Amino acid sequence: MTVKAYGAYAGDKPLESMDITRRAPGDHDVQIEIAYCGVCHSDLHQVRAEWQGTLFPCVPGHEIVGRVSAVGEHVSDFRIGDLVGVGCLVDSCRHCEECEAGQENYCDNMVGTYNFPTADHPGHTLGGYSQRIVVNERFVLRVRHPEEHLAAVAPLLCAGITTYSPLRHWNAGPGKSVGVVGIGGLGHMGIKLAKAMGARVVAFTTSESKRRNALALGADEVVVSREAGAMAAQAKSLDLIINTVAVPHDLDAFTALLKRDGTMVLVGVPASPHPSPQVFNLIGKRRAIAGSMIGGIPETQEMLDFCAEHGIVADIELIRAEEINHAYERMLKGDVKYRFVIDSATLAG
Ligand code: ZN
Ligand code: ZN
Repeated sequence: MTVKAYGAYAGDKPLESMDITRRAPGDHDVQIEIAYCGVCHSDLHQVRAEWQGTLFPCVPGHEIVGRVSAVGEHVSDFRIGDLVGVGCLVDSCRHCEECEAGQENYCDNMVGTYNFPTADHPGHTLGGYSQRIVVNERFVLRVRHPEEHLAAVAPLLCAGITTYSPLRHWNAGPGKSVGVVGIGGLGHMGIKLAKAMGARVVAFTTSESKRRNALALGADEVVVSREAGAMAAQAKSLDLIINTVAVPHDLDAFTALLKRDGTMVLVGVPASPHPSPQVFNLIGKRRAIAGSMIGGIPETQEMLDFCAEHGIVADIELIRAEEINHAYERMLKGDVKYRFVIDSATLAG
């Protein structure tokens, strides 16, 4: 069937209203009426063809929440009316080592929610800036938050899991000190989640003006990373750093803040490489620099349940679909606290 969407026909064109086709639900499919879709930085990079391989028309969006409106014959876990979410992936090979381990996000054949080849029209996946999506049941997540929080749940599907997964993998919790570098869409979730896990949280920002906001998000301490003295005071104090900054910067300034055996996890993807880190900064304290990308389906469900239990949602600004191009400009200026979310009801015009 045909539904309304917002997308672009070329990298140098603004997003506009368009009609797209969704498949009829197959035996194992769940059809979802999208209520809200978060706006991720990767949407902007992909739709503007700043990353390689954008397939047009491009309909971005991988922070999707809504209600089930139809299910295939063999779907038993979801019913019409259920509140559900869809994150960054809608399929994978389902039988490799990663898929068997529930780490579908690391499957070599994972299918992203948009811009990945698929059998459906028009030959690649189209994302959540649309009224409806049809997804295999294995990649549909249950939302247990109260319905009035639904719009603010949407960003958990990418920003939430991207920070939750490394916090869990590197054992953030009571007695641990966790640094969060960058207080944007990802960083604001990192602060909330690390705090809820029981860790002491130190937020790092380049801007003094963000201090009060970071404290309000739950940071125990805020450090302006341009201040050498304030950085020196944190030397060898952190067990884990979640670095969300997506522009090239001096990594040594942060690895120096790790304790022995501490790890800095990079989750932001800069368009050009970071300057190479000083090896002595690593070997002198057996420190590590690692990377982490979103999370698998079981862990994403765990994250959603953890957030529902702890009353955690994103801080959002709700927009109408036709405001998306303006929202992108504001995102580039860092003028959003902390995530735009599209009200899908406005897609109809
Ligand atoms: Zn994203
Ligand atoms: Zn696989």
